[in-house]
Amino acid sequence: MANHKFDRRDLLKAFGIGGLGLTASQIVRALPDSSSNSGHYIIIVFDSWSAHNVGLYGYQRDTMPNLSKFADQAFVFNKHHSGGNFTVPGVASLLTGMYPFSHRAIDLHCQVIAQHQGKDIFNVFSDQFSTFGFAQNMYADQLIGQADKGVDKHTPFGSYNLNDVLIYDSPFFDRDAYIAFNAIDFGLVNHRKGEFGSLIFGPLMRTIAMRDLEHLGTQYADTYNMGLPEGNEAYTLEGIINGLMDTLKGLNKPSFVYFHVHAPHAPYRPIRKNHKLFEFDGLGTDVGPVHPLVEEPDPEYNLKRDQVLYDAYLYTLDSELARLFKYLDKSGFRQNSTIAITADHGKIHQFGTSGHSTPLLYEPLTHIPLVLSIPGNNTRVDVNTPTSCVDLLPTFAEWAGLPVPEWTEGKPLPILGKQAEPGRPIFAFEAKTNTVFGRFTKYSISMLVGDLKLIRYHYPGYISTEMYDLAADTGELNNLAESGHPKFDELAKQLNQKLAQIGADID
Ligand SMILES: [Zn+2]
Repeated sequence: MANHKFDRRDLLKAFGIGGLGLTASQIVRALPDSSSNSGHYIIIVFDSWSAHNVGLYGYQRDTMPNLSKFADQAFVFNKHHSGGNFTVPGVASLLTGMYPFSHRAIDLHCQVIAQHQGKDIFNVFSDQFSTFGFAQNMYADQLIGQADKGVDKHTPFGSYNLNDVLIYDSPFFDRDAYIAFNAIDFGLVNHRKGEFGSLIFGPLMRTIAMRDLEHLGTQYADTYNMGLPEGNEAYTLEGIINGLMDTLKGLNKPSFVYFHVHAPHAPYRPIRKNHKLFEFDGLGTDVGPVHPLVEEPDPEYNLKRDQVLYDAYLYTLDSELARLFKYLDKSGFRQNSTIAITADHGKIHQFGTSGHSTPLLYEPLTHIPLVLSIPGNNTRVDVNTPTSCVDLLPTFAEWAGLPVPEWTEGKPLPILGKQAEPGRPIFAFEAKTNTVFGRFTKYSISMLVGDLKLIRYHYPGYISTEMYDLAADTGELNNLAESGHPKFDELAKQLNQKLAQIGADID
């Protein structure tokens, strides 16, 4: 698999003079693959992680100093975007290299449609690499399950949690996790939220889970005074980062790894010594006006409080990441493997809404971090061309010397000799209330071309197009669609053409 034409010293030299003459795949593939920390392709995803709140991306609060340090020797993509604004479309886009309007995993309880099954990054890598998938978010976990035989090792969702209460990921159900999840965990038990599927087993299981969580909360109260991090099951940040490091230590042949950490997803649970870190600094983001699509607006006080907690939670997560980064450096992993650190989607605490359960497509929801460490590069390189999560699949495939599938809607990232395409439109799509099949009649779509961003909201009783110039107005407070921007008509026409192509109602 690997091409041993260049040694490491040659590679560093080549980088010193700008990587002249070397293609991306030569640079990455030229490394030795004889030891366990060599030749791996690793994607680490943090859930609901917005670039908007990260110091590395210009946020006023220095929320993630260790990440900034790690980025000093990495490619930093400053305009990277998710395909959607919540887990299902976001992860499906990353894994398939397709936008949500194509893979159609647009609803909380659906997956990539049948015609695109098997078209994912696991199946691209599985012929020549060991493939490994893990997600601490159950929706992402089910999308990994859908990759089926493309995943050699699919570690169960609850592996690094403190109370393994969900049962759908147990070995009994094997690869039918999606069916089991919907039939049992949602239908029968329905943990702690909404209606019970079964009047007998539901309340019983929920009571056990709640008691379990209460007990754990008391046990960890010295550290997690606001409660333990939890996503259906409770965990500690230390535990999940240990799980990630153990996973990397366990690789013994060139592997592709997708590792999805639930944090910093809500509830935001900074540890005791951090939880008031930003409370009185007077910083944070202007909450802006309430958007017309927000039905029950959160008051400004709540939005500001959530910003403070989210930022403190990022700081807590970053302290744990310091151990991971140290390990990557000391073990040689970083020098010999390709590591992408990114998110499935962002998060917002503005415009009347807190979280990411919303039709809105403002930047805090879709602008996500991408820090890419590759063998041979030891300087920070900033990439300012807009990029998308759908670009990771073709990039990784090309660097690993694998064929880039024709079905991906992404392009190899514009580094290592690949030319940037500044005019290429980058999309995000949200249609969780639309039917999975058939025309899109209820949807939100954003299209970013350079610094100009169009958002079309198309819902019964509310059809509207917004336009922002992100270079002049990072907060998206000045809607240029209303003031006759000279580029508006041209971009609106381009967006309408795309909408016609994907089968979406325009008027
Ligand atoms: Zn998510």
